[in-house]
Amino acid sequence: MKLTILGKYGPYPQGKNGACSGYLIRQGDTKILVDCGTGVLGRLMEICDLKTISAIYLTHLHFDHTSDLLPMRYLLDDLNHTLKVYTHLEDTPWAKTLLEHKRFEVHHVDENTNLQIGELKLEFYKMQHPVTNHGVLITGNKRLGITGDTVFCDNVLRLASKSDYLLADCSKPIGFKGPHMSADKALEIVDKTGVKILATHVTPYQSPDEFFNGNDAIIAVEELKTYNL
Ligand SMILES: [Zn+2]
Repeated sequence: MKLTILGKYGPYPQGKNGACSGYLIRQGDTKILVDCGTGVLGRLMEICDLKTISAIYLTHLHFDHTSDLLPMRYLLDDLNHTLKVYTHLEDTPWAKTLLEHKRFEVHHVDENTNLQIGELKLEFYKMQHPVTNHGVLITGNKRLGITGDTVFCDNVLRLASKSDYLLADCSKPIGFKGPHMSADKALEIVDKTGVKILATHVTPYQSPDEFFNGNDAIIAVEELKTYNL
């Protein structure tokens, strides 16, 4: 399994070099795009043909995880192609604006859903965020957990304990008060579960790299880098 970081910043990008959340997971011919925030579409186009994407999964519908789906429709029109989009059921004006479109075939998921998409299996874990957010466990020849956005909670640990790698929203500065995990929570997750952490959702210009230096179990992810899991 391979994981490419298309964007790691939130809630807005870091100047010209940083994009918001977007992750490409590949095994064999199966490609799943998880989240599609600001700046992700252009980077995805540099890596692969949109027609070869097996499905998109949206952890939640905040703008910094979804906004590039809007211009993506124009590209899908040009390609005359429809994409499968998986996310939870949300009855809000924004969910309708974002997802009700002829180029998206939308399927709803919850904690009871088990999906097989090509060579990859997906199951979902409800997290704690101001809007509904499901983390996902993607299983291929390795097990990759992705938290989406969340504070520290039991389901973060449940997901971590089933994962070889956890791509986690745990990069906020120590003392951060808000609906994300601060960097010290990454250490706690490692201590409690033994998972390897890939730390993401970085506040622009406030990198957690220095805090993680010297800890082999935690990687502060780099944009446009592909990790062979
Ligand atoms: Zn969010």
